[in-house]
This record gives sequence, C-alpha cells and structure tokens, in this order.
Amino acid sequence: MEDIDLNKIALTPFRFNDQPENHVRHTNILRLDKIHPLISGNKWFKLRYYIDAAKPKNIQHIATYGGPWSNHLLATAAYCHKAGLSCTGIVRGEAPTYESYTLSTCRQLGMQLLFIPRLEYKAGFAPESIDLNTTLLIPEGGYGIIGAAGAATILNHINPKQFTHICCAVGTGTMMAGLINAAPPGTTVTGINVLKNKGAVEAAISPLITNKQVKYDVFYDYHFGGYARHTPQLLQLMNEFYTINQIPTDFVYTGKLVFAVQELVKTGYFPTNAQILLIHSGGITGNASLPTGSLIF
Ligand SMILES: *Cc1c(COP(=O)(O)O)cnc(C)c1O
Repeated sequence: MEDIDLNKIALTPFRFNDQPENHVRHTNILRLDKIHPLISGNKWFKLRYYIDAAKPKNIQHIATYGGPWSNHLLATAAYCHKAGLSCTGIVRGEAPTYESYTLSTCRQLGMQLLFIPRLEYKAGFAPESIDLNTTLLIPEGGYGIIGAAGAATILNHINPKQFTHICCAVGTGTMMAGLINAAPPGTTVTGINVLKNKGAVEAAISPLITNKQVKYDVFYDYHFGGYARHTPQLLQLMNEFYTINQIPTDFVYTGKLVFAVQELVKTGYFPTNAQILLIHSGGITGNASLPTGSLIF
C-alpha cells in the first residue's frame, strides 16, 4: 500500500462557481485529501495520537465504530494495516447483502467487521467479544481530546496567520475543536455541520476546546436533508467546482462545505478583505455510493 505522504499537502487558491467573492481578499483550500487515497484527509490526523498511544502499551489490536460508509473505519483499517496492528470495525446496522465499497475495502485491509443492529449500536459500548485488556477502543470518528490534539497538527502545514477565517465541515466536531485549539488569536473558525442535529456541535466541541481566544461559528442549515443526503443542486455545484478548479470534493462533507461557504460569502457573513481558508478534509472514496455518472470526476 502507498505510504502516507504529508508532502503532498497543498495550499491552493480556488474560485467559487458564482464568483461572489469580490469583497473577499483571497480564498484558499488546504488539500489534505492528497495525502493518501484511503487514509483520507483529516482521518489520519485524528487517528495519529491514538495509534501512537497503542505502541508503548504493547497493544496489538484496535477497535472502533462507524456506519457502512464510514471514512473513519476505512482510514482506521488502512492505518492499522500499515502499522501492523490487527483491528475490528464495529459497524452500525445489520450485515448487508451487498457490502459497501468502504466495508469491502476495510475487509481487504484485514479489518474484522462486527455488525450491531441499529437499536443496540451505541458508540462507546464495547461488544462482549472485544477483550478490553488487549484492545485500544477508539471512539466513533476519533472523537475526543486525543483526536482533537491530532487534528490541531493540521495547521502545522501552513502559516495560519495568513487567514482570518478557517472553514471546515463538521461531523463529530473533533477536527473543528483541533483547529480552534491551534488557530492564532483573532482567527474565526467556521464549521459547517453536515448532520441534522441543530445545536449539537457546540455541546460536542466545548469539552475539547482549550483555546478560548479563538471565536467560532457553527452553521446548521447545509446538511441537504441530513447526514449523507444529497440533492441535484449539491452534485451540480461539486461538478462545477471541479470544472473551475480541478478539485474533487465529496458529497457528504466537503461538497457541502464549498456550497455553504459560497452562500456565506454571498450573504455577507465574511467581512471585507476576509482571507478565507477551506480545509479539504478528504472523503472522496464516499462518492462510490452515488449512482455512476453523477459526478464528472
Ligand atoms: C470525518 C470527516 C469529517 C468530519 O470530521 P469530524 O472531526 O468528525 O467533525 C469531515 N470531512 C471529511 C471528509 C470526513 O471524512
């Protein structure tokens, strides 16, 4: 398997489809999606200190949680494969007849899959077959202080003082908390939530935030119907964004991020001369769940 290559991280200027950004000084995107085809984007950053913690304790086995299209499960499977650790994916829902691209790739990478019916699945609750003496149990999405500490190192790859606003997609909020902790005073971190759970992000991230000098905002109206839902309008925006910038996005997170930030520029959220950074947090493999032909990339 290919190595993780942090040298492939690129900071590139981009244009929005509608070019509403006249009053904005510049718009850039941090391409974390380039570091690895499977251990995509922010997932490596969130996992790194969990995996580091396993080594000195001589832990050989990792277990974690996710749904059938979880980028986190896939990244964990690939990371453990590379690190020579065995791993278990605790999957929400009954075992499907047809396995998703994500789950079959997890299996090929050696991850054992344990399916737990939706009503019983509680991320954080260890199934009996997992021996907690020898297993490191990582929370769903890498959520937690260790995950946020890893995500904070995303900003080591740029000079964050170049930006007034750092914008990211939000699932568990772990990445957003890490960015808040690492951002220079005076920066605003803008989170675009992709789940239909209005108000939940502030509660999730507040225990992870150590830096009180950075302001943040969360927007809840860009989920397009809920987690992993999409509309023709969203897919069209992703195709146009690719045509203009040659940058692929995913429909679960980064496509919604681009859509939302473009809207926020139009509606005047960003002040004059704002210097906007989007975090491209990866996730492209999730597009395999779309009907073929939906995207031009
Ligand atoms: C997992 C994921 C996120 C969400 O990260 P959280 O730390 O859970 O908020 C954002 N973007 C992509 C592409 C992801 O795969």
